[in-house]
Amino acid sequence: MFVKQYRCMRCAAVYEPADARMVCDTCGDDGILDIEFDYPAIKQVLTKASLAENRDSSIWRYLPLLPVKGTYIERALHVGMTPYYRAQNLETMFNQKRLSLKDDSVNPTASLKDRASIIAVMKAMECNHKVIACASTGNAATSLAGHAARMGLKAKIFVPKRAPKGKLAQLLAYGADLYRVDGDYKAAYRLSKQAIDHYGWYNRNAAINPHMVEGKKTVALEIAEQSHWQVPDWVVLSVGDGCTIGGVYKGFYDLLTLGFIDKMPRLLGVQSSGCDPFYQAWKNDAPLTETNEDTLADSIAVGIPRNADKGLRAVKDSRGAFITVDDESIMSAALLLARNEGVFAEPAAAAALAGYIKASTMKLIPPDSQVAIIISGNGLKDTDAVVRHIQTPELYSVDFNRFKQRSNKKEEKHE
Ligand SMILES: *Cc1c(COP(=O)(O)O)cnc(C)c1O
Ligand SMILES: [Zn+2]
Repeated sequence: MFVKQYRCMRCAAVYEPADARMVCDTCGDDGILDIEFDYPAIKQVLTKASLAENRDSSIWRYLPLLPVKGTYIERALHVGMTPYYRAQNLETMFNQKRLSLKDDSVNPTASLKDRASIIAVMKAMECNHKVIACASTGNAATSLAGHAARMGLKAKIFVPKRAPKGKLAQLLAYGADLYRVDGDYKAAYRLSKQAIDHYGWYNRNAAINPHMVEGKKTVALEIAEQSHWQVPDWVVLSVGDGCTIGGVYKGFYDLLTLGFIDKMPRLLGVQSSGCDPFYQAWKNDAPLTETNEDTLADSIAVGIPRNADKGLRAVKDSRGAFITVDDESIMSAALLLARNEGVFAEPAAAAALAGYIKASTMKLIPPDSQVAIIISGNGLKDTDAVVRHIQTPELYSVDFNRFKQRSNKKEEKHE
């Protein structure tokens, strides 16, 4: 492993690498740790040329940049190297020089969360834990359950009452111990923390566990490699807890430090207007304060983000921005994406496209910029959200003549 030390985001205290360490001793749960790597040593084993020859098409191709030993990776589900598509139909529609989609909905449990969960499970195994727990709006839980099942760990999962059916079904299928909490995500998080402290389970909660950001950063490593190290000017993604955007920043930061890329893309963090604590804090240059969790984009309905420091740093240090979009524009973006590019995103993932559209309309992102949009979760996880927005299909008679009459009428309507 090439981990040099852990540094507190609040008080800058440094700690020796230790598998079991979670937060700063002085600052407690507010003292989120940042993992610092030994870049000169990494440069000896990881180069653009070595990557070009590496046939491993999963996140483990970046193992020197990850805080795990790699003992159990052979057995793991395949995470990462998800498609990076050029979105030419959307490019034309929005007059953008280049627009790409990083489709993380095709990970093994169908969201970007797999990048963090796999690291959590590896870490838990390296620390000899048999039980791993987290609170989640849905996807972190689902992905933890899947990877735990694969690696033979027990998963204890706390989800808010409103977690969509698709995600609950996945969780139950993977055989996790599920605690569906009578409350919102904030409530589920609080209960999980008490239970984890009490029972001593391995903690996958994304802010407290500093290794999660490191897993999520692999999406940025891939975007850079897939764009042949000519990184986009802007990377657009939706933000809940702030772990993903913190990870995206960290990934580009690693590559910049290693000299693989020559600029930090500007990060556009997209929040729902029904739950926008990052946006408010960034706009007012003030500390984060709690907001409601009032949006159908359940994966970003996070009223108290636990990764506030890393999320804000990502946007400030990349000269990026936060932006908000309402539920209506999120659902229109989901349909636009599916209909024009064939990618079906869950609402929280479609929020990123909605944010791009707004930023392009406001000229925050100019037409000559190169843009990547991260599609963080699959539309099949929450089909109710889409079905509510489209007309239920009419029922056809089995009689072909009647079929013809109606289908001709339908064609006319469409012309
Ligand atoms: C978790 C999640 C996000 C947001 O990531 P955070 O780390 O919570 O900011 C966005 N989209 C989807 C689909 C997610 O599951
Ligand atoms: Zn501290």
